[in-house]
Amino acid sequence: MSAIQRRKSVAVDVGGVRVGGGHPVVVQSMTNTDTADVDGTIRQVAALWRAGSEIVRVTVNNDAAAQAVPYIVDGLASRGVHVPIVGDFHYNGHLLLTKYPDCARALAKFRINPGNVGTTRRDANFTTIIEQAIEYGKPVRIGVNWGSLDQSLLTTMMDANALLPAHERLDAQEVLREAMVESALRSAALAESVGLPHDRIILSAKVSGVQDLVSVYLRLGARCDYPLHLGLTEAGIGTKGIVASTAGLSILLQQGIGDTIRVSLTPKPGGDRAEEVHVAQQILQSLEIRSFSPQVTSCPGCGRTTSTYFQKLAEEIQNYLRDQMPVWRERHPGVEEMKVAVMGCVVNGPGESKHANLGISLPGTFEDPVAPVYVDGDHHATLRGDHIAEEFQRILDEYVETHYPATDAVGV
Ligand code: SF4
Repeated sequence: MSAIQRRKSVAVDVGGVRVGGGHPVVVQSMTNTDTADVDGTIRQVAALWRAGSEIVRVTVNNDAAAQAVPYIVDGLASRGVHVPIVGDFHYNGHLLLTKYPDCARALAKFRINPGNVGTTRRDANFTTIIEQAIEYGKPVRIGVNWGSLDQSLLTTMMDANALLPAHERLDAQEVLREAMVESALRSAALAESVGLPHDRIILSAKVSGVQDLVSVYLRLGARCDYPLHLGLTEAGIGTKGIVASTAGLSILLQQGIGDTIRVSLTPKPGGDRAEEVHVAQQILQSLEIRSFSPQVTSCPGCGRTTSTYFQKLAEEIQNYLRDQMPVWRERHPGVEEMKVAVMGCVVNGPGESKHANLGISLPGTFEDPVAPVYVDGDHHATLRGDHIAEEFQRILDEYVETHYPATDAVGV
């Protein structure tokens, strides 16, 4: 794993998952079900957890949602799904948390958006939520968002900036970035003044542009030691969302900033919500910060291999590895570090395959119809015929069994 120097932060316990304080960067996600739909929400939380989400957030937006939360948490536990559930509150969190103590008790953390806790009674409402967190021993995330920034704070800072001499004046964008940071830090200070311990606060300040994200988090990271929840808000759909999130998060993670991450993708209609978990894991694994799943290196293909066979094989192997991981993770510790190469022809095939734990170089267009397989850099077998995929998979299984001994076999 990488030698990235992590920013120093206190550790916050979120339902048994430690965030910050040098603990591994935590992957989290959020449901998009109606929280009042207990069964549907349980199903989606369980799917996100199976995909690798270590914390899952649900919206708690009304009475029905608040009443459903304890049933969701119990239902997950009875199915063996032990993942901390975070409640996302906007506008009425102070009311719901006081009215439904079972909801407050069941949640592992409260997320508060300081821009959405009211206008005339903002601090009083915010204080009420903090008091509930203190009473039930819960941490909070103070999550500032670009789209719902505290407008009175922004106006005050804009006015103060306008009174500065011209050479000291910031442009509007800079004031906005500063206001994001100020909103988070002032809210944290208020929470502590009410009595919430320092190590029960996580901060985020999400924006939807990469440069804004980097600028805001660099400032936030330099001015406090609260753990930071990192993510680009409203990242978008498909390639745009994945690339923008990867660009923003990678710049910050490489500088040691970010203790937990969420990738806020807009799923395609009927799409898999767990994609955001896979992307978050892949960002961390590509940066060599954490390993989650064996990695498949495959070439893009070119005119030297007109067949799509190797693309199909690369995808099959990737899917096979991902499908095996829930079992392998428990049974074969260390397997997540494995590297597999699936290459399209002799040009880079043998070379790349030798750099992997397990590699296969498929035949290009004018090559002999044979596929040499390499194990830890050495030629291991040459496959041919119609069952190359199955035979390669068998070699893969054998490699896992022999190189990452089953935990129940350790010490036998
Ligand atoms: S390994 Fe072969 S098929 Fe793949 S991109 Fe390189 S030259 Fe093309």
